[in-house]
Amino acid sequence: MKKTLTLDIGGTNFSVALFEDRSLVRLETQATLRDAGPVWMLDRMEEMVTAWNAGPFNGCGIGFGGPVNFFTQRVIYSTHVSGWNDFDLCGEVKRRFATPAVIDRDSLAGALGEGIHGAGRGMRPIFYITLSTGIGGGLLTDGGLLRGADSFACELGHHIVVPNGPECLCGSYGCLERMCSGLWLERDYGKSAEELMRDPAFVEKYVVHLAQGLKNTIMFLNPARIIIGGGIATAGDALFVPLRKELAKQMPPWSRARMDVVPAALGRETIAWGALELAYAELY
Ligand SMILES: [Zn+2]
Repeated sequence: MKKTLTLDIGGTNFSVALFEDRSLVRLETQATLRDAGPVWMLDRMEEMVTAWNAGPFNGCGIGFGGPVNFFTQRVIYSTHVSGWNDFDLCGEVKRRFATPAVIDRDSLAGALGEGIHGAGRGMRPIFYITLSTGIGGGLLTDGGLLRGADSFACELGHHIVVPNGPECLCGSYGCLERMCSGLWLERDYGKSAEELMRDPAFVEKYVVHLAQGLKNTIMFLNPARIIIGGGIATAGDALFVPLRKELAKQMPPWSRARMDVVPAALGRETIAWGALELAYAELY
């Protein structure tokens, strides 16, 4: 039996999960302190894993909510949480949990998780979107994940959807992430995304920008299915019904590209399942 640890590191929450072969045995989530940095978070994770008394582990898969250089296996940086620049997370995990580790951006892990175990099973290519603190994308094809030449493929969050719009954390203006991510919804409206999604009048305006991001994705990649995960996607029909309607309105009438947009089937476990498959692909 293989025991795999998975870590899902996001700007709002972080989770640790344990798999025995391909069965999820435990999953524990805590809130991220955005300014506390990696050592604080690793200490919390180590406390959880120690309390489980579940080791030794065969491997650890990590989904990180920010750019990761897959080829050097290092975190590049995070615009949402501080202290992660060029951080050797795999090295730290190896030291603390005595297990080899592999890391990728969370939206790519999400594409793997949903593509193998969730809403994208049997369909290719699929495009996964995290709609959370930030916004990211991941493309899973018959040939595997598209990482690009420098691990920066599918950074959907920084497509510009409002030219000359408000400034994004990346330095550009009017990015999809700037208009639609949880971090900015909270800053712009003083309410959580969860609360805002319960207001149909708000959602009707919100989906205009989000549908632009989906339209770009379809025009560029024509995926068999777009799967949206992350905290905001848990709003369900309150979001997806108006979103599909708006997308159909924005797509040009001559296009025959499908507009199949669904919420992640694995909910809050998507990244954990993807990180598990990452471990299987890269470590075993
Ligand atoms: Zn941006």
